[in-house]
Amino acid sequence: MGKFPEADARIMQFVVCRRCKSRNKKTLDKCRKCGSVFLRPKRKDIKAKK
Ligand SMILES: [Zn+2]
Repeated sequence: MGKFPEADARIMQFVVCRRCKSRNKKTLDKCRKCGSVFLRPKRKDIKAKK
């Protein structure tokens, strides 16, 4: 989890293309850059290792 809740909320509105790694809006079902449907959300629950 990030230090700033606002930033986390904003990050959660994006998905990242698995192919070209560009950020897309969560509302899109395809990457606008390469057309890939393999998008993953930026997950908040992935925590950094201690
Ligand atoms: Zn892409």
